[in-house]
Amino acid sequence: MSDAELQTLLDKLQTPVLIFGPSKTTDQWQVVGFNTAMSGYVEDIESRVVNKGPKALFEITTKSNNPFCQGLDVKPGALLQTHTAMFRISDGETRRVKVKYDWIDKKTLLAWIEPFSEDVALTQAHSDFVSVVSHEFRTPLTSIKGFADTLLRYSGNIDRDQQARFINIIKHQADRLSRLVENLLTVSKLGAQRTSFIYRSITVRKVIDNIVQSIQGKLSEPREFALDFSDNMPTAWADPDKFEQILLNLIDNAVKYSFPETTVRIKAQPYPENDDMVQISITNEGVGIPSDNLKNLFNQFYRVDNTLTRDVEGTGLGLYITKSLTKAMGGDIMVDSEVNKETTFSVIFPITTPERQAAAVREAEGVLSE
Ligand code: ATP
Ligand code: MG
Repeated sequence: MSDAELQTLLDKLQTPVLIFGPSKTTDQWQVVGFNTAMSGYVEDIESRVVNKGPKALFEITTKSNNPFCQGLDVKPGALLQTHTAMFRISDGETRRVKVKYDWIDKKTLLAWIEPFSEDVALTQAHSDFVSVVSHEFRTPLTSIKGFADTLLRYSGNIDRDQQARFINIIKHQADRLSRLVENLLTVSKLGAQRTSFIYRSITVRKVIDNIVQSIQGKLSEPREFALDFSDNMPTAWADPDKFEQILLNLIDNAVKYSFPETTVRIKAQPYPENDDMVQISITNEGVGIPSDNLKNLFNQFYRVDNTLTRDVEGTGLGLYITKSLTKAMGGDIMVDSEVNKETTFSVIFPITTPERQAAAVREAEGVLSE
């Protein structure tokens, strides 16, 4: 195949290709050509890429000691492994790519560049999701299976107290699984924008009293709560189930990540910065959240890794759900934390107004008459 034929063929392809040939001045390889897809992928390719060697262009990110990219002398025909690399397009710009090599003849080596597209990033996110979720399922399942097996096999040899203990563990792990499934369903609905909200006027104090009572009931060690409700607290305007889910997540965290025998403080008041909103703040004393971790805190599956919280159960979905639901209902969430001291999560919500109520009625009528 002539050079012109090769060029015509490569220009028909969608994949960007760089053509490497031996340098005339050194014994190194350098870019001597490219196809049309490549010139669409990189602007000013003539000045940015042509005549450069592989070492200057690719910074390999996979575990591969590809001699070609180290600028070493490679014999034509040598096997060159595919690798991922940061493709240095100019001094200030790199892109993540996968590079595959093919020898055409002794002086022509093709490098196929596969950009990491959004699709690939999505696939990666999807496989991260699957691996986190399967891990989260496996831990409680293993324990449920193990204790159930033991009960079945040795029930004759285990005393009643121990049997009750095993059954409690099974119940606890099954609850954990069902919470995880609930959270995953919420996340998947949020992602597909299939969450619907039915707004009502909400007495914040009632909701918080109920949550505190139900959490107290489940704790093995009692925990002190200090509640502080402003006298002129307006009612909030939100979907009651989602409102409860938000506060439950925040209060659950405050309890989980607290030092033992400390008090969780919950304060509800009109929002000082905007009288159209109410604010609920939950403060606890504990390990806190280092400032570096704050920016990722509301991402799916994100958990702060530190020795004190490593043994605390959780999947890192709570705050993602909390923030998404709060924002969707016109509210917001703020966090303030001092490591090894105090952490405060604050949520704000719109208050009930006659206009909001009237709009909800109109919307309901619209749905009914459809
Ligand atoms: P779950 O999905 O069961 O809620 P989780 O509690 O680990 O799991 P999130 O509620 O999203 O997940 O919280 C994310 C992380 O933020 C936690 O793992 C914890 O490291 C940190 N965190 C949350 N609240 C607090 C708090 N009050 N004090 C210290 N760290 C906190
Ligand atoms: Mg949580």
